[in-house]
Formats: sequence, C-alpha cells, structure tokens
Amino acid sequence: MSGQGENGPRHESQTTEVNPDQSTLKRHRRSWWLLAVLFFLLVLLLDLAFRFGPELLERRKFDSHFALFSPIDLASLPTATRFDFPIGSEHGAMAYNAQRFTESLHLGDDLNGIGGENSDLGDPVFAVADGQVVTAREGGPGWGNVIIVLHAYPENGVRRYVQSFYGHVQTMLVAPGEMVRRGQQIATVGTGGGKYWAHLHFEMREFVTPYIGAGYRKETRGWLDPSAFIEAHRGAPDEDVGRSAP
Ligand SMILES: [Zn+2]
Repeated sequence: MSGQGENGPRHESQTTEVNPDQSTLKRHRRSWWLLAVLFFLLVLLLDLAFRFGPELLERRKFDSHFALFSPIDLASLPTATRFDFPIGSEHGAMAYNAQRFTESLHLGDDLNGIGGENSDLGDPVFAVADGQVVTAREGGPGWGNVIIVLHAYPENGVRRYVQSFYGHVQTMLVAPGEMVRRGQQIATVGTGGGKYWAHLHFEMREFVTPYIGAGYRKETRGWLDPSAFIEAHRGAPDEDVGRSAP
C-alpha cells in the first residue's frame, strides 16, 4: 500500500512535472505555427506587391486608340470650311482611284499617282481639312501605318463630325493630339510595309471613335464614299490657292 501510496504521488508528481513541459512544447509549437503563418503571409504580400506594384503604381499611358472625345474636345475642334483630296492636286488631279468605295466590300478609295505601280511611293499625303489627329500609328496586319484625323464641319447650320483615314502610309509626320490644317502634309504614300504597290487607302467616316478596323466590310453604315464627300465639300472660293507649298 505504502509502495503504491509512494508510487501514486510520484506518478502524480511525474505527470505534474511532464504537463508544464508539454504545455510549453505546445506553446512553442503554436508560436512556431504562428511564425510560419506570418512568414507565409509576408511572403505572399511581398509577392503580390512585387507582381502588381509596378502596374498599380504606373501612371496610365495615353492610348489614343481607346480615347473617346468629350463634348469639350469636340467643341474645341476647328471648323473645317472646305475639304481637299489627300494626294495629287487638291482637286483630285494627278491621282486615280484603283478600287472604289464598296467595290469588293472596300470601305475606302485606293488613291494612286497616275504613274502607276510604285511611282507615287513617298509622295506627300495631305490633311483633307482642318482637324485634329486622333491616331497615328502602326495599324496592325495588312495596314502598315495609319493616320486618322477628326474634323468638324458645318452642314445646313448644324456642326457635324467626320473622320479622314489614311492607310498604308510610309512616313508619319504628325502625332496624336496634333492640330492640322487643310493641305498640311501629314505623311507620305507607302506600300503597307511592302504588301502592295504604293497607294493611299483613304476613308471618310461619320463616327468619332478612333477605330482602325479592317478596310473591307459588308456593312458600310458609318462609312462615306470618300471621293464623293470631298467633291461635295470642296467649297473652294475662286481666290483660294489651295494647299500651301510643303
Ligand atoms: Zn484600300
């Protein structure tokens, strides 16, 4: 009995001695777990900061392709009182139309110098009217460089908007946001990066969105017959000498 009695307390004392050890061990384990979780969270946060930090802190770059015109932008456009042809003479002489608007679903006119083939390569391309450049960039496959100019013009007392579109140009002499004058040289005739004989793919559009698109489309709503539009809006007074010398 006494042995058991002695054993009993000894056993009890053993367990009471073991218990604090186990609890400190448990506490240590818990703090290690906590440290591991904190470390994991820290690594996760650093990783997220490293991944998304530059993007979140970067100032948004202006991409003219997605820019929309505010009413103030539209109101500040100069009023174009007359339009000229973009290559050859301002009346359209010295140029011919190789593929007309809507011919084979064409959204523009393919204007060429009368010499044919690459004789017009590098010839000046002129802004058809006063306006603001909205796009001047590589237009994607099949395009080469593309320039879009937005114009405001009066028609029957109403201020209307129209875009002139210059495709496959070689050298671009203007940048997005720049104001241009009618007859100002904005580019040179190109080959769309060697894809075609040099020519100017010229469109006139009734919308203001700086949309490049495909050049060919069954649905032509929003696109105008470019040469017919220019002819109808020549508005050149007799004393007007046309475009200024480059
Ligand atoms: Zn074309």
